[in-house]
Amino acid sequence: MGADLVGIGTPDRWEGAPVQMDPRFIMPEAKSVIAFAFRVMRGALRGIEEGTFFSNYSSMGYGALNWLYIPMTMMNLAKYIEDHGYEAIPLGHLSPWRAIDNLGNLRQGYSRPVEPDKPAPDVMVHLRIAAFLCGLGEIGWSKMLLTPRFGPRQRLAVMLTEAELEPDPIMEPFLCDRCMMCVEECPGGLIPTDRSVEVTLAGREVEWADVDHKRCNVYFRAGEILPEGEHGDYMPGRDDVAPGPWSPFPRKPNTIYEHGQAISGSKGCTRACMIHLEEQGKLQNAFETPFRRKPLWRVDWSAE
Ligand code: SF4
Repeated sequence: MGADLVGIGTPDRWEGAPVQMDPRFIMPEAKSVIAFAFRVMRGALRGIEEGTFFSNYSSMGYGALNWLYIPMTMMNLAKYIEDHGYEAIPLGHLSPWRAIDNLGNLRQGYSRPVEPDKPAPDVMVHLRIAAFLCGLGEIGWSKMLLTPRFGPRQRLAVMLTEAELEPDPIMEPFLCDRCMMCVEECPGGLIPTDRSVEVTLAGREVEWADVDHKRCNVYFRAGEILPEGEHGDYMPGRDDVAPGPWSPFPRKPNTIYEHGQAISGSKGCTRACMIHLEEQGKLQNAFETPFRRKPLWRVDWSAE
């Protein structure tokens, strides 16, 4: 129906999960959790790599996947499952309604549990962890989900259903070799080499870098946080941000498809990692030509 990868897990793989991320609170009778990956086309990153066409990744490679293509596929599949007599919940990108923030803390004053033994609505299933638990791939040092087919180049969705489906095994990690190219090329230096998050997922120890999500909010948009006392007007509501060398825009362009604005083109966590995994011949979605064909460009804003 349009998904590139599908994996099936069982709800008991979430045993021990934080309640705010546990799908069993959304559908207590679920028998299966289905994770889906939708590729970001390599060509969607080309315009940023060239420095001439920035909107395509944020639109076709990001917002349009999250808000159009993925929901349509999920809706059609949920209808198919319900036509067979089993409830199905298509979980798309529901971040705006979730009860926790980017750091996993409860949003103060946002919502309250309807009963004492329930989490605050909305519960937010962690998509990358779900993909891992459903056997789609591994979580790399960058915290990105890496799949054997596309490396870091996909977006994710999850479906819960009361239908009992044959589960897939959890994948043994083999893609991330800790090359640290994601660390080296992240525009804000936000992926540390020496600090990590360690979690136990279905009995497996999984570790990824303790990524600085707060600053990623700016560097993802190719802004640069200025030293204290300096002022910039790159982003609305932030007077401490100027355009960084990976933005050709003096002010950040508008949102596309209510999402995106990924002006730096996921330079470290996606582009650098993909290049590395392709060079190693580890990805099934192989191409005739290497992705990087010339030195990286930089914009010099120092005279502004
Ligand atoms: S760039 Fe290297 S260290 Fe970073 S996630 Fe990819 S394979 Fe792992």
